Amino acid sequence: MRMRNKPWAMDFLSSNEDIVDVESRYAGKIDEFFVKKQPLHIEVGTGMGTFITELASRNPDINYAGIELDKNVMIRVLEKVRELELENVRLLLLDANKIDEYFNEDEVDRVYLNFSDPWPKNRHEKRRLTFSSFLDQYKLILEKDGELHFKTDNRGLFEYSLVSLNQFGMDFHEVILNLHEDEPEDNIRTEYEEKFSAKGNLIYRIKASF
Ligand code: SAM
Repeated sequence: MRMRNKPWAMDFLSSNEDIVDVESRYAGKIDEFFVKKQPLHIEVGTGMGTFITELASRNPDINYAGIELDKNVMIRVLEKVRELELENVRLLLLDANKIDEYFNEDEVDRVYLNFSDPWPKNRHEKRRLTFSSFLDQYKLILEKDGELHFKTDNRGLFEYSLVSLNQFGMDFHEVILNLHEDEPEDNIRTEYEEKFSAKGNLIYRIKASF
């Protein structure tokens, strides 16, 4: 997701430190960042935040941490969190490859990956968020029965992820090849999901645990 660079973005995010953690102040103690102590779900690569803010509105008994490395994009999520006055969403300006430094072992109950960048070239495999080094990290921070929920319209990334999760020994709870054909009520469409579905792309979803 490319957004115009906003030179003021970092200052703006820093001035909203009740919602956004720009310098990992809450690493190792994320409970202190939330109003209530309750189960924790995270989304890696929130984009503009339609998914996480709607999910959090529907589930006030769950805390949600949105992880995004692009500060310009994060401003859009911050605006939504403010507008909806969501106490159960906090935002982390963080590269996903550092989440094992941010969260404690077994601290997270669910990880969402929505329309992650596909990185189609072989030499970029390590950047895919379902590459084994990321799975290592999710496994570490997820509690025993915690789940990974993954959606994409990208056939290559979907097939790659099926193989990668399978090789990692994960248990599959759900593999859907056309999510919108008989759309489950619990599905919340992301910005990319709306865009690619409107183009006629199939949407794939996987739910799995370690
Ligand atoms: N999830 C949103 C959706 O479905 O509409 C956005 C999808 S967009 C293709 C991928 C997002 O992931 C971008 O906003 C990008 O900045 C973010 N992202 C990519 N790699 C990341 C990483 N290593 N750590 C954190 N965020 C990342």
